[in-house]
Amino acid sequence: MSGSGDPARVVIDANGIDTLIAILAKRGYEVLGPVRRDGAIVHEPIASTDDLPRGWIDEQRGGHYRLKQEGDAYFAYTVGPSSWKRVLHPPRQPLWRSEIRDGEVAIEAASVDTQRRALIGVRACELAAIAVQDRVFLEGPYQDRHYAARRAGLFIVAVNCGRAVETCFCVSMDTGPEARAGFDIALTEIANGRFVATAGSDDGAARLAELPTRPAEPSELDAAAAAIETAAGQMTRTLETEGLPDLLTSNPDHPRWDDVAQRCLNCANCTMVCPTCFCTDVEEVNDLDGGGAARVQQWASCFTTDFTYLHGGGAVRDSVRSRYRQWMTHKLATWHDQFGTSGCVGCGRCIAWCPVGIDITEEAAAMRGARGGG
Ligand code: SF4
Ligand code: SF4
Repeated sequence: MSGSGDPARVVIDANGIDTLIAILAKRGYEVLGPVRRDGAIVHEPIASTDDLPRGWIDEQRGGHYRLKQEGDAYFAYTVGPSSWKRVLHPPRQPLWRSEIRDGEVAIEAASVDTQRRALIGVRACELAAIAVQDRVFLEGPYQDRHYAARRAGLFIVAVNCGRAVETCFCVSMDTGPEARAGFDIALTEIANGRFVATAGSDDGAARLAELPTRPAEPSELDAAAAAIETAAGQMTRTLETEGLPDLLTSNPDHPRWDDVAQRCLNCANCTMVCPTCFCTDVEEVNDLDGGGAARVQQWASCFTTDFTYLHGGGAVRDSVRSRYRQWMTHKLATWHDQFGTSGCVGCGRCIAWCPVGIDITEEAAAMRGARGGG
C-alpha cells in the first residue's frame, strides 16, 4: 500500500463494489440500487454492478425527463422519479386486518417489515430528504412503527454527484451535491470505474475494511473534489430561501396564485415524486366473501379535492389556487414551524415530472417579484 494520500479515504473499483454488494447480501441485507427500467432510473434489488445503469445519463428540465447513453460512468445520472421514500414509506401499507373467527371479530395489526436493506447510490439531496422524513415519522410525539422498522435496518451507500441537471438546486437548499452525514459509506466516482470511498459510521468503516481498497492518492482526492465542484457549478437554478416563509404566509392573496392555478392540472405528480411529501389516507378493503376486511394506508396528495373533503361541507380547499398555495406554502414556509426545516431539499423532481413544467423556484421568485428558475 502507498503511504501517501489520505488514509481515511480509500480507492475502490467496481470489483470492490461487487464484493461490498455480496458481503451485504450475505449479512442478510436486501441490496437495492439504481436500475434502468421503462426509460427511467428507479430503485430495485441488485446483485452486482452489472445491474447499474452504467453509461446512462439523464436529461431533465421542466416537464421533461429522458435517458440517453453517454460515457461509461456508473452513477452519472442524477435523480429519477422514484425516491427512496418508496422503500421507507411505501405507497401502500397495510395497517390491520379483521376476520370473523368462531363468531367473534378478531383484529390483528399488520406486522412491521424488519427486512434489513442496503441502499446503493443515495444522493446528498436524498439523504436530506430521509432526514426530513425522520423528523416527521420518528422525532415528533408519535412514531410511525412501520417507518421506524424499515429505517432501523438501513445500510446507506451514498454517491456524491459529479453532474447536475437543469432541474437541480440542492446548492441553494444547502443539501448537496456532497453527502455530509447520514450515510455508512460515501462514494465519489472518479475515472475508469474507480471511486474514492469514505466511511460515515462504524458499520461503514467495518465493511470498507473488508474490501479490496488502497489509500487515495492526492491526485485522486483532487479528482473527487473536482467532480463535486463540477456538479455544483452546473447548477443554475436557485431558490432564494431568505425570508421566504414570511413572504409566503403573508401573501395568501398574491395574484401569482391565480396565475399558477391557470397552469396547474391538479394531477398530484409533484407530491408523488417529492421525496419529503408524506401525507397519507386510509381505506378499508373488504374480502369479497365478507369474511374479513383490512385497513390500508396509502399515499395521498393535497392536490386532490378528497384531501380536505368534510362530510356535509365539501372540500375546504375547493380551488386549484388554494391547493397549489397550500402545497407550496407548506413545503417552503409552515414546514419550518412544524418540523424546524424546509420541506424542500432541491431535488428538482417536481419540476421535471410536472406535465406542464411548473417550477417551484420560479413560482417563489415570482412571489418576490424577481425572475426565477434556471
Ligand atoms: S418540492 Fe420539488 S424540489 Fe423540493 S424536495 Fe419536493 S420534489 Fe424535490
Ligand atoms: S404543479 Fe404540476 S405536477 Fe403538481 S399538481 Fe400541478 S400540474 Fe400536477
